[in-house]
Amino acid sequence: MRHDEEGRLLEVGARTRTIPPALRRALLHRDRTCRFPGCHVRFGQGHHVRHWAQGGPTTLGNLVLLCRRHHRAVHEEGYRVAREPDGTLEFRRPGGRELPHVPPPTPVPVDPVEALHTQHADLGLRLDARTACPRWLGERLDVGWALDVLYPRAAP
Ligand SMILES: [Zn+2]
Ligand SMILES: [Zn+2]
Repeated sequence: MRHDEEGRLLEVGARTRTIPPALRRALLHRDRTCRFPGCHVRFGQGHHVRHWAQGGPTTLGNLVLLCRRHHRAVHEEGYRVAREPDGTLEFRRPGGRELPHVPPPTPVPVDPVEALHTQHADLGLRLDARTACPRWLGERLDVGWALDVLYPRAAP
């Protein structure tokens, strides 16, 4: 383990390809979930960004947490992952195109149904079981009315 002057953890390393428990805990603490864009699976495996066989060390800086599905995608399906100099991860599809970063999901309120009712009340909406029912009884299309509704400025 290497630390800076204030005792912050800089790097953890091992001499083997296998990730020892302390390094695995540090990896879980840093990454928390699978780092593949949009994936938030909590259980993962440590993946060597630069492969062990190509001289990639078993260090925190060279490891990334991937779930089983995405670990397989990287090893067997041609997806690639690289760490940029600033530490961010860059994922690429098998064809080489970069996978866009996915923003974290919107936090869900404690009581989502009540939050939605409050939001509707604030907007003045009164929703009930018949809200989505069409009121159409088979009348012919009134083109003039439809245009007035859809494109008000088209009316003279
Ligand atoms: Zn791997
Ligand atoms: Zn994943």
